Amino acid sequence: MTTMSPTPTRPYDLGFTRWVYQNIDGGDRMALCMQCGVCSGSCPLSTTMDNGPRKTFMMIRAGMKDAVLKSDTLWNCVSCYNCVVRCPRHVPVAYILHELATLAVREGYAPARTSETNKFVKGFTWSFETFGRTDERIISLFYYFQDGFVAGIKKLLAFKSIAFAFVKVGRLPLGLPHRIKNRGELKKMLAAAAAIEARHTAGRK
Ligand code: SF4
Ligand code: SF4
Repeated sequence: MTTMSPTPTRPYDLGFTRWVYQNIDGGDRMALCMQCGVCSGSCPLSTTMDNGPRKTFMMIRAGMKDAVLKSDTLWNCVSCYNCVVRCPRHVPVAYILHELATLAVREGYAPARTSETNKFVKGFTWSFETFGRTDERIISLFYYFQDGFVAGIKKLLAFKSIAFAFVKVGRLPLGLPHRIKNRGELKKMLAAAAAIEARHTAGRK
């Protein structure tokens, strides 16, 4: 991951630990973490992460701000929530990682990924408008092929081990995606939401 140069901090800064406990949603529950490793052991992407969630939480406790905010663990989490449902101490692991990623961008440890996020949002929107569902397979394919056919195939091959890991833990279903019934009703709801948003936007001008 490309990193910028934020203001250097001490390698062990307990002020960071306190900040995370007090300011990150669910951060206070990290004090209950018993380092059992169920989160990292359940994570289908842990082999792609430099630290994984268990070690990240240990590093936060030690006040290792720089190391935590430079970590690719924050970016490789895909919100499958395996860790959240399995943590015996009910630590909201995924939410904490996402807030740390936001903090990493805010403090200059990681670049904002606006263009990639926009591409992903397009796939997300297309999936629920077309099928009435957010189907991970549709969203991923839409995202991969936005830069052309060859680029899409390369991305598919690059991520094949991740896809297999998700199939293995039952987070990526096989078979065709299903459309919801009454998509006409969904379309009416989306049109009403768009009209409300347009009114709010006009009111702000
Ligand atoms: S599963 Fe929960 S208690 Fe166990 S290491 Fe992960 S966060 Fe800590
Ligand atoms: S939510 Fe993120 S950290 Fe938790 S198991 Fe899934 S990919 Fe791993």
